[in-house]
Amino acid sequence: MNHLFDIIAAKIVDPEKIFLQTPDGLSISYRQMLSASARYAHALTALGVEAGDRVALQMEKSPAYIFIYLAALRTGAIFLPLNTAYTPHEVSYFLSDARPKILICDPARRDALAGAAAGADVRIVTHGHGQDGELFDLAFASRPEFKNVPCGPGDVAAILYTSGTTGRSKGAMLSHGNLAANSLTLVDCWKFTAQDVLIHALPVYHTHGLFVATHCVLFSGASMIFHAKFDATKTLDAMREKREGFLRGTVLMGVPTFYTRLLAEPGLTREACASMRLFVSGSAPLLADTHRAWRERTGHAILERYGMTETNMNTSNPYDGERLAGTVGPALPGVELRVTDPETGAELPRGEIGMIEVRGPNVFKGYWLMPEKTASEFRPDGFFITGDLGQIDANRYVRIVGRGKDLIISGGLNIYPKEIETEIDSLPGVVESAVVGLPDADFGEAVAAIVVREKGAAIDEAQIRAALSEKLARFKWPKTIAFVDELPRNAMGKVQKNVLRKRYGG
Ligand code: AMP
Repeated sequence: MNHLFDIIAAKIVDPEKIFLQTPDGLSISYRQMLSASARYAHALTALGVEAGDRVALQMEKSPAYIFIYLAALRTGAIFLPLNTAYTPHEVSYFLSDARPKILICDPARRDALAGAAAGADVRIVTHGHGQDGELFDLAFASRPEFKNVPCGPGDVAAILYTSGTTGRSKGAMLSHGNLAANSLTLVDCWKFTAQDVLIHALPVYHTHGLFVATHCVLFSGASMIFHAKFDATKTLDAMREKREGFLRGTVLMGVPTFYTRLLAEPGLTREACASMRLFVSGSAPLLADTHRAWRERTGHAILERYGMTETNMNTSNPYDGERLAGTVGPALPGVELRVTDPETGAELPRGEIGMIEVRGPNVFKGYWLMPEKTASEFRPDGFFITGDLGQIDANRYVRIVGRGKDLIISGGLNIYPKEIETEIDSLPGVVESAVVGLPDADFGEAVAAIVVREKGAAIDEAQIRAALSEKLARFKWPKTIAFVDELPRNAMGKVQKNVLRKRYGG
């Protein structure tokens, strides 16, 4: 048996059903998915890939990406997706760390990556965006059936490098069992069925697009509309699609930026969402304002959830029941979550802010080749120290306050950026803000607030200072307030506080 792939295969309700459709109408049935992944599994085997070998790829999003992922599972190999934004210099680190058997890349990138691959003694195999490249040719000369290599729940299915902004990026090892357990839970909690059509516009090198989104489809025998990248107009079109032979969305999964961009579309109305049953957000905090505005415009409460590469999903607002803006909901079934004192590890009473720790079948096996690092991030009783600060309220809803490393310590006092951001964000004329600590000779760190104003809004520094002075203790008042048109964000919608610290700290 092959733990993950067997579950996926067992969920297929009708082999002729569409598994994936592109916006231009290319449809791939479950039967075709099975045969394409079998062909790619043969191709990987022909290239010498064996169980436990890493298969790295840096490729643009396309249906083949998913087939190669499934093929890697079927061969018992370990899938290693790399962010398409990584430079050859960065790729060379991942290759020398993970030592994959092959690196799959676009033919146009072969020359640029040749040095990185040669340096790590890794063979490059090309695959284009469509039906081209060496891997494609090998696959389509192969048979459409494949005898899956046996894999148990404890075997590693994928290594995803964390997007770590400090220190070296670490390879999180996710087992067949981790991925299966979390996917089954999500399908159940979010009520996915074979009738669903997911609008998939997320990148597939990240846990959100590859596991949360794609697995919810595969684990329920549903369909997906597969966008190469997010485009607000095209996403809206997928919600309103009425053409014969084209799928119409029922669920959207996105990062908060998707929702703010969609809100800027005049076509986003209740009628436009008539076929939609669920909107899910995660990977970065969703502003309470966005949640409210979405509800007013569409009648839907966005369901916010919280997870990370290492743990898959940990919490979710309820499907039935109150989806509370500014919270990520209670722990998912089977996931234990607690808040502890970051220094001592002692569990804190309800409501207090501290380190979020999680334990459950969703939590990864450890960091690739980093046993000491792994050991230092787990408590002796098996809880993983997430690095996120948060609190649990009386109804067990979790609120994320921010990453521990973004905590500001000024004059020896702890300052949670989120508290100041929330106050600034609530002021009229403010879209959003980011609060960071900058080096300060007197206080160790000083608070700096970077603010995005609404177009044409006149709110100024003095007004922000006046408003904060009424709400917050003096030691939390920003020393610096700067205005920008837009906060720097990565592809997953996370505000890059390290960029702000560098920009304003110098
Ligand atoms: P990644 O490993 O790239 O998925 O990043 C995981 C991190 O994203 C978490 O540790 C959190 O800091 C953050 N994150 C994910 N979902 C949320 C959310 N709903 N609200 C706030 N932060 C989130």
